[in-house]
Amino acid sequence: MRHPPPHVIVVGAGFGGITCVQALAKSPVRITLIDRRNYHLFQPLLYQVATAALSPAEIAWPIRSILRRQNNADVQLGRVVGVDVAARQVAVDDGRRIDYDYLVLATGVRHAYFGHEEWEPFAPGLKKIADATLIRERILSALEKAEITADPAERARLLTFVVVGGGPTGVEMAGAIAELTHHALAQDFRRIGPADARIVLIEGGARVLSAFKEELSAKTQAALERLGVEVRLGQNVTVCDAEGVEVAGGRLFAETVVWAAGVRASPVARWLDVPADRAGRVAVRPDLSVPERPGVYVIGDAASVSVGDRSVPGIAPAAKQMGVYVARQIRFAVGQGPDPGPFRYRHAGDLATIGRRAAVVDFGWIRLSGYFAWLIWGIAHIYFLISWRNRLVVAVNWLWDYVTFQRGARLIIGATTAPPTLRDD
Ligand SMILES: Cc1cc2nc3c(=O)[nH]c(=O)nc-3n(C[C@H](O)[C@H](O)[C@H](O)COP(=O)(O)OP(=O)(O)OC[C@H]3O[C@@H](n4cnc5c(N)ncnc54)[C@H](O)[C@@H]3O)c2cc1C
Repeated sequence: MRHPPPHVIVVGAGFGGITCVQALAKSPVRITLIDRRNYHLFQPLLYQVATAALSPAEIAWPIRSILRRQNNADVQLGRVVGVDVAARQVAVDDGRRIDYDYLVLATGVRHAYFGHEEWEPFAPGLKKIADATLIRERILSALEKAEITADPAERARLLTFVVVGGGPTGVEMAGAIAELTHHALAQDFRRIGPADARIVLIEGGARVLSAFKEELSAKTQAALERLGVEVRLGQNVTVCDAEGVEVAGGRLFAETVVWAAGVRASPVARWLDVPADRAGRVAVRPDLSVPERPGVYVIGDAASVSVGDRSVPGIAPAAKQMGVYVARQIRFAVGQGPDPGPFRYRHAGDLATIGRRAAVVDFGWIRLSGYFAWLIWGIAHIYFLISWRNRLVVAVNWLWDYVTFQRGARLIIGATTAPPTLRDD
């Protein structure tokens, strides 16, 4: 009697999960890919949705469409709520229990508020499309309200935009908000102007982009300041509320606050009943498997792993490399490939953009900043988008923005009535 092929469940169709499924395309396994959303999201360009440069559909693509030619892969919509390790089953929130032989958990991270989850309604983070459209809504609504108020203090509050966290997302958000508000205020409004807008980037550490070399951090700060962003270093936010934020230097009255300061892994460690690090990530073995949980792997942002003395960063290329690697591990386990040995991570470089003409790029062997770096950043992001349609549409949109300074997605569509909450994750 012939046995059915081993069943691999992959949870999460982000960079890690999708890459793992695709790398198993020619393997004698049955794959079920489960995600709570029906689309793969290109998170690196979410900030462009939040600042009205792109529309959501331009950075997302249906998972079924990505895998439509892969006959050994089945896609299921559902939110995973637990894992029964003894029974080798995954639990989905609608009551389904699905058996697995191998389980790959690639559920990523979400933003976190250092124990102050009550700050979220006032300072949304940027992780999902709903977050991006909510932030876009708040920025555009603040401009509209500022145009009609007669109260100068209220106008100042409406036109103050605070970004908390000076990592790549915070830097990109602050630069993009500065450009959006300055260009929109210069061209499309009658009573308020670019000089009325104030954009403040607050970072608790000593420099922005702390993972980059100091020289690039300094250049990034200078580029932000040229765009009119006020960079405040060494300051921690102590309160976020409807009025704005409180920092060491006092209170900043602001209608729009964006949180880009911390992340926490999805509850994978709880599902597996294994220890997690401070960010909630599961410490995996050098082959990315989970100790004492046979057949279970954790990859991408949800995994904590070091290669040599360097911990693997929570970025898309790392998640993709882990996805390919675990596919090789599974092929080895089913007797279809050689032992891949321990996971090895190749760091291609760090990139961050600051507005529409500047970026910093660190490939290790070469460091660049300014316009040329921005071109490299743009080409890399278009290349890594998932479909040809999205590549084309994003390239045309960017060209249009570049020439006309016009942002095509400046729409207020009512997202503020349904703010996403932490419960959503
Ligand atoms: C705003 C922003 C900007 C970024 N910019 C860059 C950048 O410029 N360059 C870069 O390299 N990296 C960047 N990153 C990081 C990069 O996006 C992540 O490292 C990468 O997405 C991690 O991939 P992953 O597969 O681990 O998780 P994700 O890509 O986050 O995918 C997780 C998937 O799991 C699904 N999921 C989660 N929980 C469940 C559940 N319970 N049940 C079912 N499905 C679930 C989610 O719906 C999602 O599809 C950025 C991240 C953000 C948020």
